[in-house]
Amino acid sequence: MHLAEAIEELRLVDHHVHSVLPGQLGGAEFEQLCTESDSPAPLGTSQLDSQLGFAIRRWCGPALGAEPGLPAAQYLRHRNSGPAAATLLRAAGCDRLLVDTGFAAPGSASLADLGELSGAAVSEVIRLETVAEQVALTGPAAADFAARFADELWRRSASAAALKSIIAYRGGLDFDPARPAPQQVTMAAGRWLGEVASTGNARLTDPVLLRQLLWAGIDRGLPLQLHTGFGDPDQRLHRSDPALTSDFLALTRDSGTPVVLLHCYPYQRQAGYLAQAYPHVYFDVGLALHYTGARAAAIVAEALELAPFGKLLYSSDAYGLPELVYLGARLWRLAMTETLGGWVAAGQWTEADAIRVAAMIGRENAERLYQLPPDRRS
Ligand SMILES: [Zn+2]
Repeated sequence: MHLAEAIEELRLVDHHVHSVLPGQLGGAEFEQLCTESDSPAPLGTSQLDSQLGFAIRRWCGPALGAEPGLPAAQYLRHRNSGPAAATLLRAAGCDRLLVDTGFAAPGSASLADLGELSGAAVSEVIRLETVAEQVALTGPAAADFAARFADELWRRSASAAALKSIIAYRGGLDFDPARPAPQQVTMAAGRWLGEVASTGNARLTDPVLLRQLLWAGIDRGLPLQLHTGFGDPDQRLHRSDPALTSDFLALTRDSGTPVVLLHCYPYQRQAGYLAQAYPHVYFDVGLALHYTGARAAAIVAEALELAPFGKLLYSSDAYGLPELVYLGARLWRLAMTETLGGWVAAGQWTEADAIRVAAMIGRENAERLYQLPPDRRS
């Protein structure tokens, strides 16, 4: 079998994805789900005049039986006229989805419904900060917080595939890497729980507690996914460079817990270095692929510069739009075919090696890392 065909037929494991809205969508809602910005497009411009908008019209239209490149309004009418979510999710060709349940667009499909719609097996990724905020709202004593959080984390993650932290959003990745002392944690918990009790707002930004959560995640032992690189303007991009976690990675290298750097863009080269330097570091460039559309191959090629091929993973990091689950897979297949195919054509790689590496990144690395049970086929 040749490379393009092998990549086209490869069943994927999407190791980081959010749930999607299964029904019809209005134009403004659709457009706002095509950007990481929290602001509407400035007057006279459209979020769909972007690599992502063009990629949706180019690739999702045909997946739904329409012409490629329909104008946005016509595409929207077409996708709203049929079962777009199920068609797109199935066309992605994933055998398994690892779903971050800590953050989903209101009205998104439940895990069970997502499994039904996609025909894929579904596993859960548990967000540390969400669990902590839920514990805080039950009003524990400050001295009990760390133990209550750890208990709840183990209970919630009993059958989960992975944990996730958004510490990049809550203060940045340039955090003090050391495990906080118990007295520090109790003091910080006292302050935070007092605020939660008086305001009802449990959003956690305390740096000591955020580190406590991370270290509890390391103790839990499941692969720990870290948001890095671009995201919505709630974060500061220069503080989400994965290289800022180097000291934390050095401290956790012998913990036995893998750390998985998510998205990474525009720092995929830094991530490739970290994956080579530290035995427990893995990464993906999910999210960057659909946002960069026709440039996705350039990102994939940079990710493949330094990274050992056993350390890269596939994800869509789709959120809200079922289009993004399909597009992640579509653009990954195109980018891998173009990149690896180019190296084969140049006589640098054998085609057999290229096919083997595509299977590693598309599914085998994730199956090994997350110890996934054998998949059912849709
Ligand atoms: Zn995500």
